[in-house]
Amino acid sequence: MRAEDISLEISTNLCRMKFHSILLVMLVVQSCSSASTNKQNNSVSQTIQSPEKDVKKDSLPPEKLLPVRPELVDVQIVSSAIKVDLKYTYSDNFIGDTLYFLIKKAYLQKDVAQKLAEAQRLLTAMNPDLHLLVYDAIRPREVQTRMWVALDSIPVSQRVNFVSNPKNGSIHNYGAAVDLTICDGNGKPLDMGAGFDDIRKIAYPSMEKRFLHSGELTQLHVDNRNILRGVMRKAGFSSIPTEWWHFNSCSRQTAKSKYKIMETEADIFSVN
Ligand SMILES: [Zn+2]
Repeated sequence: MRAEDISLEISTNLCRMKFHSILLVMLVVQSCSSASTNKQNNSVSQTIQSPEKDVKKDSLPPEKLLPVRPELVDVQIVSSAIKVDLKYTYSDNFIGDTLYFLIKKAYLQKDVAQKLAEAQRLLTAMNPDLHLLVYDAIRPREVQTRMWVALDSIPVSQRVNFVSNPKNGSIHNYGAAVDLTICDGNGKPLDMGAGFDDIRKIAYPSMEKRFLHSGELTQLHVDNRNILRGVMRKAGFSSIPTEWWHFNSCSRQTAKSKYKIMETEADIFSVN
C-alpha cells in the first residue's frame, strides 16, 4: 500500500467518523495535505464504499501508528507471545462492518496488560505451543453505542447479556476488559463450540453443562474453555456467565474510579 493511500484512508475514515476533537482536526489537515495530489483518483470512492477491503489489520507500518495515551499499552509490547486479531478492525464481526479506523493494536491499561501477560505465562507453562489470541481490548464508547443500536431488535433486558449499555459504560471502554481465545503456534484458534460474539446460549459458560449433556457441546469444547478460564482467573480476571471469550480485570465501579473512560477512538491517542 502506498503512503499516499494510507494517508488518504486515514483522511477518509476520519471524515466518516465525524470526529471533532482538535487532535483529529490536526490529523485531517495533515492527511489531506499529503493526499491532495490524489483527490480526484477513482480509488477514493472505492475506499469510501468498502473500507474493509483496504483497511487491513496490521497494514500500517509502526511509524504510521498514532501515539497512544501514556497510561495505555499495546499488549504485545508487554508480552510478545500474545497474538492479536482485532475483529472490529475489519468486517469479520457480528456487525459485518469495520468499526475501528484508528485502533490497530490491542491497547489496555498497563496493570491490566500485566495481568494478561501473566495469563500467557501460565498458558505457556502448561503448553508452550499455546497462545492467547486477543479479539478485542479497549473499545471506545462510541463503538459500544453502535453495537448497542445494531442489536436493537433484542429487548434491552436481554441485550445487556451481549453488549453493555453504553449509557452505563462498558469495562472495555476503560481498557480493563478483554475478549480473547486460545490459539496454537500457527494462529489456529481452539474449538470452543461457539464462535466469538455468538449470541446463542451455547456460548454461555453458565449453560455448558446443559449443552454438554445434550451433545451440542463436546468435552473438548468445555475443556478448551476451562483452559482459557483457568489461566485468566489465576491471573486475576473474572469471567461472565454469557460470553466464554469476555474477561474483566475489575468491576465497572473500580474501572470508573481508576481509569478514564474513552469516548472516541481519538481519546485513545495523544499528541506528543
Ligand atoms: Zn467483551
